[in-house]
Amino acid sequence: MFRGGADYPPSWYAATASPPPPRTTPPPAEVDVAIVGGGFFGLYCALRLAQAGRRVALLEASRLGWGGSGRNGGQLVPGLSCGWARLRTALGAQLTAEMQRESQRALQQIRALIAERAIDCELADGHVEVAVLERRVRALHDAIDEARRDWGDTRLRFVDRAELGAYVDSPRYRAGLFDPDAAHLHPLKYLFGVAAAAEAAGATLHEGCRVAGYRELADGVRVQLSDGASLRCAQLVLAAGAYVDRVDPRLAARVLPVGSFIGVTAPLGEAACRQLLPGNHAVYDNQFILEYFRTTADHRLLFGGRCTYLGGTPRRLADAMRTNIVRAFPQLRGVAVDYAWGGHIDVTLRRLPDWGRRGDRLYWAQGFCGHGMVPTRIAANVVTEAMLGEPTRLDAFAAIVNPRFPGGERVGALLQALGMSWYRLRDRV
Ligand SMILES: Cc1cc2nc3c(=O)[nH]c(=O)nc-3n(C[C@H](O)[C@H](O)[C@H](O)COP(=O)(O)OP(=O)(O)OC[C@H]3O[C@@H](n4cnc5c(N)ncnc54)[C@H](O)[C@@H]3O)c2cc1C
Repeated sequence: MFRGGADYPPSWYAATASPPPPRTTPPPAEVDVAIVGGGFFGLYCALRLAQAGRRVALLEASRLGWGGSGRNGGQLVPGLSCGWARLRTALGAQLTAEMQRESQRALQQIRALIAERAIDCELADGHVEVAVLERRVRALHDAIDEARRDWGDTRLRFVDRAELGAYVDSPRYRAGLFDPDAAHLHPLKYLFGVAAAAEAAGATLHEGCRVAGYRELADGVRVQLSDGASLRCAQLVLAAGAYVDRVDPRLAARVLPVGSFIGVTAPLGEAACRQLLPGNHAVYDNQFILEYFRTTADHRLLFGGRCTYLGGTPRRLADAMRTNIVRAFPQLRGVAVDYAWGGHIDVTLRRLPDWGRRGDRLYWAQGFCGHGMVPTRIAANVVTEAMLGEPTRLDAFAAIVNPRFPGGERVGALLQALGMSWYRLRDRV
């Protein structure tokens, strides 16, 4: 398990963003809402609740964006990791259709925040989902049909193999699905903008402030900090992502922290980047163990993939990432990989979201399963509306059964690793 230190782990993001000085002021003794975790979910909740007039303190063990939020692929794609069909089985057709619209709204909210606050985060439009296997081309058609039929979305476009070169210069992919509204950005720079917005709305943000646990009282919650101090709040939001283990073992039992990895090449130059991805769109494939990539503002290829279930980082990570890069882009054989890093994604057993509440004091959202940039905004909308008095949608999510991983984290990891080996094999055959 990666553990937060006093600073950001090395990554291309940490090297190219300029973090503001740490916010080391201790939190107040009493607030309306305390939030554990300074990733996107926690920050969006802080922003919305502060805008609604609540006194909010956000407590981050390390630096804001230290977790998945500050080190991810930067792909801003609507939807939830489980897919709409599976969500429909869990939530029913009506609420799923509503969540499809909510997902588009969340993307618009992100774009609006970037525009309103002039957040310099290298936002670039467009996303292509590509199929490696001929038999998964069908899934691209199905996604387009589903969007048209279920929520009247006619923007998605099928791209056949002949046309795909205008999007991705790779022999690996058979066809694509182009979404002009999805986007990609520098997540850590964007996160600094969201943090500034939450502060401007009146929330206080506290870094280097690790929560050791909490205790429910008759009229609130006592939050215990690891330095011995504590604070009292009326409502508590758990937003610790894949790192929730020490704060709430009950929630932790339902998510498995899975390692996920990214490599960034040496600068390739603008012309070479436009050769690889002519439209400067982000791309992911529709394999079970997916790969994703985009080019950066300083003209590198940022490439994500690989995963580990049993902890740790693959040996010689930069070389391992280069192997995947060259498989997608043989023309990059011999390219230097300047940055390589990993992070944890919070995976639930059935890949369904785990959003809920206990009474009207304790709220959470976890189980983003590696797709969290837009979903953290959706979750924050659903969770904060419940905190502000309208719990219908959150309660529908809370009714989804997310089983504990059998045998705890170690056995669960082993079973998931076996399961994913099976899927990896299916991806290859
Ligand atoms: C390598 C990688 C690539 C990814 N790529 C994409 C992508 O391209 N697109 C996409 O949509 N999603 C992607 N994701 C997923 C996405 O980043 C996450 O789903 C999302 O950032 C989760 O946000 P969060 O706020 O729930 O958690 P996090 O961002 O993980 O934040 C949790 C925070 O809680 C803090 N914390 C933990 N314990 C405590 C404690 N006891 N006290 C105080 N604070 C605590 C941590 O330090 C951390 O900062 C990727 C994830 C990874 C790891």
